[in-house]
Amino acid sequence: MKIEKDTAVTLQYKVTDPSGKVLDDGKDPMAYLHGGYGNTFALLEAALEGREAGFQARIELAAKDAFGERDETLLTSIPKSQFPPGVKVGGQLRGQDESGRSQVFTVVKVKGDHVLLDGNHPMAGKTLVFQLQVLDVRSASAEEIQHGHVHGAHGHHH
Ligand code: ZN
Repeated sequence: MKIEKDTAVTLQYKVTDPSGKVLDDGKDPMAYLHGGYGNTFALLEAALEGREAGFQARIELAAKDAFGERDETLLTSIPKSQFPPGVKVGGQLRGQDESGRSQVFTVVKVKGDHVLLDGNHPMAGKTLVFQLQVLDVRSASAEEIQHGHVHGAHGHHH
């Protein structure tokens, strides 16, 4: 069966940067609903359109087509005293940005009595290289299409 709108696609994948450094070893396969539901990157969907199980590809995505460019205004610092105990450099915590939206911050470093936080996605600004293989293609169920995501072992769990 070919990948087309409203098919459920299961992929084995690995993500590296252009030098080959592994960013996501894709231990578990990923399943997504194909057809512009925003489950995965638009350029990945475009590369997979019309393909079948067994198809393999190496697809390079520029930062703007993946997690976006870095936004240096998302760097912020807070007093160490406001910092939850036990969080280390490289760790993450959930906070709110200036407009009150929930945002994940990565702890960049501790400097004096301040902690520097970065609200960018950890993969923002990075070119991503996907090595992927299509494991399975099937028709999505009416319920999956209504929900806009795939159910089952590698899909969405309610
Ligand atoms: Zn659902």
